[in-house]
Amino acid sequence: MPATRVEQMACGDCGRPVDLYGGQSAVGGLRYWASYQCEHCGGRREMDGIGMPPESFRRAFLQEQGTWGLEVRAPGALALQALKLLRETLGLSLAEVGVLKARMPGVVREGTRVEMEWLKQLLGAKGVTSSVVPVAGTPV
Ligand SMILES: [Zn+2]
Repeated sequence: MPATRVEQMACGDCGRPVDLYGGQSAVGGLRYWASYQCEHCGGRREMDGIGMPPESFRRAFLQEQGTWGLEVRAPGALALQALKLLRETLGLSLAEVGVLKARMPGVVREGTRVEMEWLKQLLGAKGVTSSVVPVAGTPV
């Protein structure tokens, strides 16, 4: 799994600056992880979490991997199914769901590649076909 340099932070052992590296995974749900090894004292930390990572992580992932979109081209009833699932999963308001609906068929949501792959899996489990497409700043 590729690691992205997320930010510089203070070593939990000696307080000197260390580089924190992290990544995301969509296997068995959306997860993120991060770790560092201090070059000054050898101290190590590993952390992980479930769901959307902190904003500093997302900024680093988007910067390194570009922005990706979830493209939904489902017809009629399946489109409504997709909107319902996205609303529940992402905790969207009705107004936000309206925005997604207006974008259909097309790219309804943007984020990191792993986040979009995760949404695609969830939609696929409901029988809704979608694709993950590069939107901006994506390395070729
Ligand atoms: Zn240290």
